[in-house]
Amino acid sequence: MLNFQNENLKSEFKDIRLNELLRFIVFGAAAYCEFRYREPLWVTSVNRPEPGIHGLWRAVDCDNDYLQIWQKKDIAEYINGLWIYDPYRMKYQVCLHHTVEGRGGDHFHFQVHPFTIFRRKISDA
Ligand SMILES: [Zn+2]
Repeated sequence: MLNFQNENLKSEFKDIRLNELLRFIVFGAAAYCEFRYREPLWVTSVNRPEPGIHGLWRAVDCDNDYLQIWQKKDIAEYINGLWIYDPYRMKYQVCLHHTVEGRGGDHFHFQVHPFTIFRRKISDA
């Protein structure tokens, strides 16, 4: 389940400007989190009026204070196992579980790029 810290975040998440693949990926992460750990994901930030990927409607932050670090790492691995952020720049990832100075504790940062693709298994080829 995907929850929102406030109504503004809910409307931003539904906003047509938010990348639709990103919305799909965040719903997928929330479904996995619910299935594995019986916990929802909380959307904590969508658009931010600043230069950067949040300002471009290509990033969403989520959190859940009841999840353990290993569970959060597992969720990030699950998402990064499905999606490639940019096949030309493999050092970047779709889901980061990190701590950013000035933005509270550790949280999930989901991001997409115009080149973001589904990570197919070799056997699917
Ligand atoms: Zn972020």
